[in-house]
Amino acid sequence: MIRKFIDCRDMPGVKCTVAIFAETEEELLEAALQHAVGAHGCKDTPELRERLRSCFKIEKRRASYS
Ligand SMILES: [Zn+2]
Repeated sequence: MIRKFIDCRDMPGVKCTVAIFAETEEELLEAALQHAVGAHGCKDTPELRERLRSCFKIEKRRASYS
């Protein structure tokens, strides 16, 4: 299953190296919101949700050599 993720390093002005992964955008948005609010003191606003959503990326599958 390919997951989506958000990397805190992509957020401007944020010194944080946390990355959050989830299979659906809804799950990812919820987890990212909790992180932004809890770890960065952000306010849960529609603007924040939009900003987070715009940073979502698709996880690249790693080739398996086993
Ligand atoms: Zn962070």
